Amino acid sequence: MKRDLYETLGVAKTADEKELKSAFRKLAMKYHPDKNPGDAEAEKTFKEISLAYEMLKDPQKRAAYDRYGHAAFEQGGMGGGAGMGGGAGGFSDIFEDIFGEMMGGGRRQRSSGGRERGADLRYNMEILLEEAYAGKTAQIRVPTSITCDVCTGSGAKPGTKPATCATCQGSGRVRAAQGFFSIERTCPTCQGRGQTIADPCVKCHGHGRVTEERSLSVNIPAGIEDGTRIRLSGEGEAGLRGGPSGDLYIFLSVKPHEFYQRDGADLYCSVPISMTTAALGGKFDVATLDGTKSRVSVPEGTQAGKQFRLKGKGMPVLRSSQVGDLYIQIQIETPQKLTKRQRELLKEFEELSSRENNPESAGFFSRMKDFFDIE
Ligand SMILES: [Zn+2]
Ligand SMILES: [Zn+2]
Repeated sequence: MKRDLYETLGVAKTADEKELKSAFRKLAMKYHPDKNPGDAEAEKTFKEISLAYEMLKDPQKRAAYDRYGHAAFEQGGMGGGAGMGGGAGGFSDIFEDIFGEMMGGGRRQRSSGGRERGADLRYNMEILLEEAYAGKTAQIRVPTSITCDVCTGSGAKPGTKPATCATCQGSGRVRAAQGFFSIERTCPTCQGRGQTIADPCVKCHGHGRVTEERSLSVNIPAGIEDGTRIRLSGEGEAGLRGGPSGDLYIFLSVKPHEFYQRDGADLYCSVPISMTTAALGGKFDVATLDGTKSRVSVPEGTQAGKQFRLKGKGMPVLRSSQVGDLYIQIQIETPQKLTKRQRELLKEFEELSSRENNPESAGFFSRMKDFFDIE
């Protein structure tokens, strides 16, 4: 006993096209052989749901099924499974309908002439912060299929032409009478292209495209942010049989920098200075991304966490004349591995210290003592 087609897809008899499609997609994702390698049961289920969808998405077949059930497809002039089995064209067809959309970025289109848009391609590129600062022209090599230059994409040997398919007269679909019904399906001779190639091009074997590595130059504008996607229209995979090319997407990431952290257009740099520099004051230089250096003056009595702003020393703002700032964040390094003499000097220094020297810590401990009432 064959399962009810609606039941197989888990939809109501009243389900519309959208509901059918989404139910099929969900089940197909779950039972797809790629996700269940070696699982015969999953493969069987996958075939069942594929067939159910194949039948129900076609309004004519669906009407026939609604009226006659499975019997609508089981007898008739065509014999074994021509309608139900999907034949040569059926399977690849739903595959492209559904999986082309899921895997090819939702942009694969097919028209009656068999033209097909090329897939979109993704290219991951990592650049340095310095490169994001200055901008650059990057040369990349992209393995991609391009239109075959020998046959200019027709797939036919030069001097010959693809012929109109004799089976379908170029429509890509064939109709077959089955009992009362006339059932239409993809032409098994030309797989829906409407054309056949008697003498295939030797370079592309009739595919109309070949895989090659292409060199492209990509303009990376100054100020570009980590995670940016650059779209190069028409630079993706070549289309099939005269279809348009897909797009190439460059996914850009900016490598973390040794010294600078970026926040939008601003940069942050944490600088450790010695305790004595912090106490006595001093100067140091920082190298900046514009290739120069900036002098930072630390006043006497500088505290840890103090921030100095170097105006205009940050990142450029994309497509603007604005530039961010560079913030220098001071850390104070406590001296370690003291010599005997240094220790003596610091002890002497401590004896000479008053609360004036360390108002924060003196104040903190006396406030805490009062608060908790401890001696
Ligand atoms: Zn060719
Ligand atoms: Zn045909």
